[in-house]
Amino acid sequence: MKVVENPSLADLNTFGLAAKAGLLLEIENEEDILHMPVLDPVRDLVLGGGSNILLVDDVPGTVLLNRIRGISIIEEDADCVLVEAGAGENWHSLVAWSVEAGLSGIENLALIPGLAGAAPIQNIGAYGVELSAVLQSVTAWDIQQGKWSVLSGEECDFGYRDSLFKSIHPGRYFITSICLQLSKHFVPQLDYTGLSQALHASGIKQPGLDDVFAAVIALRRSKLPDPAVHGNAGSFFKNPVVTRERFEELSHRTHDLPHWDLGSDFAKIPAGWLIERCQLKGFELEGAAVSRQHALVLINQGQATGAALWKLANHVKGVVFDRFGILLEPEPVIYGVPLA
Ligand code: FAD
Ligand code: NAP
Repeated sequence: MKVVENPSLADLNTFGLAAKAGLLLEIENEEDILHMPVLDPVRDLVLGGGSNILLVDDVPGTVLLNRIRGISIIEEDADCVLVEAGAGENWHSLVAWSVEAGLSGIENLALIPGLAGAAPIQNIGAYGVELSAVLQSVTAWDIQQGKWSVLSGEECDFGYRDSLFKSIHPGRYFITSICLQLSKHFVPQLDYTGLSQALHASGIKQPGLDDVFAAVIALRRSKLPDPAVHGNAGSFFKNPVVTRERFEELSHRTHDLPHWDLGSDFAKIPAGWLIERCQLKGFELEGAAVSRQHALVLINQGQATGAALWKLANHVKGVVFDRFGILLEPEPVIYGVPLA
């Protein structure tokens, strides 16, 4: 196990925030876990690729970097394959591996930054597909109980950008591997207009697995700010989900309020539209800004602190609430904000 004292975390979070930690431990195998110190969920922090976290403050304790690798097929039949991936595998490389092997189910989730072990934390999703659709089980070290646990997809209590790991038991589980059920028979998932239009525009009428994978990559490259240029954590706010009744009330006030129906009882409102309508695109505060390219993304223009980004996030939240009466919720994990 690699050990570093007083490390800088600047290269370990995609906001590029210059936070520090007391100690850094790189966990490379399950044996290392048995030798790691007993963790305190408040002082210590598990990190994957650091692409879904805002470090508002330093980490006084230990940062554990998950670097457990390996992809293997553990079971297969005529239709499906069970694939186990070490939590330290790069998520996009796992998607690329599955496409190369002709296995479908996660192609719409191409190019999401971060590591496989973090994918269940917020039930990653994009272009109409969520991890929960293919996740069979998660293997984790239960820090609270000091024992191994295998949680089924159902036990993970997945929701929209949410799971038990994020909302019910944050910091309790150190995920070491995930098991996915992928299909040998490709059926394109093209519910998102943006994706089907992009394929159509390229003249592809009956897309194959490679076509969908390539289209998602091209779309994401064209739309999202690159963290290597301007530090960011992707969408900073979740798209608010409201009851049908509440949506009717809101749309009385704002006639052109866009939405997507989630069954007949709920509607999802695009947070990016709300922010843009408040004229906040490009708004800057102490080196932090709302991206001009994508209103849902907050960026570090170079020298912003985590506190400045958090201040900006709260400003955006306040303006949107005052204008629309809709409360935005951050999507990334916020580390270092004292509980109210
Ligand atoms: P980290 O940021 O390192 O960690 C996130 C949380 O998970 C932290 O609480 C951490 O403690 C915990 N964690 C990490 N690894 C483990 C582990 N092994 N065991 C226990 N806890 C762990 N997300 C989407 O859902 N859809 C998208 O389309 C999407 N697009 C993005 C685009 C960009 C440009 C960026 C920067 C981010 C995007 N994200 C998206 C957010 C992010 O990439 C995902 O949430 C990703 O799964 C985070 O992985 P990570 O390894 O970087 O996690
Ligand atoms: P987009 O296609 O411009 O769409 C804007 C929003 O509308 C998205 O947030 C998406 O919600 C929603 N949407 C679009 N079509 C929909 C449909 N047919 N049914 C239901 N909802 C629909 O979005 P984008 O910003 O370019 O992102 C494309 C995809 O990548 C989205 O799924 C987005 O979530 C994902 N993404 C996520 C992050 C992140 O950090 N979480 C960052 C970049 C991209 P959903 O977001 O709920 O899907």
